[in-house]
Amino acid sequence: MSCNSSGCQSNCYKNGDQVSDSPPPPPAANNSSNLCLKCKTNSPITPGSLSGDEARFCADCFRSNIYGKFRLAVASHAMISPSDNVLVAFSGGPSSRVALQFVHVLQDRAQKNFEASKDKSLPVFGVGVAFIDESAVYPVSSDKVDGAIQDMRSVVSNLAPPTKQLHVVPIENIYASDSSDGKDRLTKLLDAVNDATGKEDLLLHLRMMALQKVASQNGYNRLILGSCTSRIACHVLAATVKGRGYSLSADIQYVDARWEVPVVLPLRDCTSQELNLLCHLDGLKTLQPFDSPPSGINGLISSFVNVLQDS
Ligand SMILES: [Zn+2]
Repeated sequence: MSCNSSGCQSNCYKNGDQVSDSPPPPPAANNSSNLCLKCKTNSPITPGSLSGDEARFCADCFRSNIYGKFRLAVASHAMISPSDNVLVAFSGGPSSRVALQFVHVLQDRAQKNFEASKDKSLPVFGVGVAFIDESAVYPVSSDKVDGAIQDMRSVVSNLAPPTKQLHVVPIENIYASDSSDGKDRLTKLLDAVNDATGKEDLLLHLRMMALQKVASQNGYNRLILGSCTSRIACHVLAATVKGRGYSLSADIQYVDARWEVPVVLPLRDCTSQELNLLCHLDGLKTLQPFDSPPSGINGLISSFVNVLQDS
């Protein structure tokens, strides 16, 4: 996941042994349009249905570009420090899958540096993963949910050590201990909201409350979300339309310290297309047991943003 181009000006990670002193190969004179925009050596990712800049990079440059954006966001906003214990919110979708992968890569490198250092002075930050089980809200078969949870366990356990704990938390856990009572109370609360948009927004808030609860109960001091540029664009438009401009700027900051456990968005500068493509290229398994398209105002805005991105 490093850039092999010695002329690279981006903030991507470079391994010392991969940085060569020799000048970059000259761009081909005749068919440069058929080569990667950055390294001008490899063939670009097969365009297929792709549009935009990502189709003009080779796989290596594309990968190092996305990881570079992640690392820049983490470093310039002090999102993760060595003593932190971070919780990655994992829905199973492409954005949170990439967030999990990148946080893992960062931790893996910190672990290797720790092992190589003589004085072992810098600790390695801890990583946990949380999945909010929303079976109480969506009509999904329990087999499907169980299968998805099993797949998530294998995704998390297949990441190299240090071991990451996966917390599977039913959304009704926002209420005190008794789960069956919690389910009834949650259903009653959601049924009290008549419009689709209001229900979705309430659910989004409840999901965040569930994540905050699991984070604070298990000693995490950062909550990492995979929110990407596309998601943030939808939120900006939706919050404006809904008259929620007062909190808009705080909602979309890299680090949101309004919560008990601060929420950080390291993929804020990546588009959903880029993250989908990365999952596809690297074979990162995605699964979304509760994948229901947004409705109401959120649905309209989401399709509008999709159209804008496609054009
Ligand atoms: Zn390239």
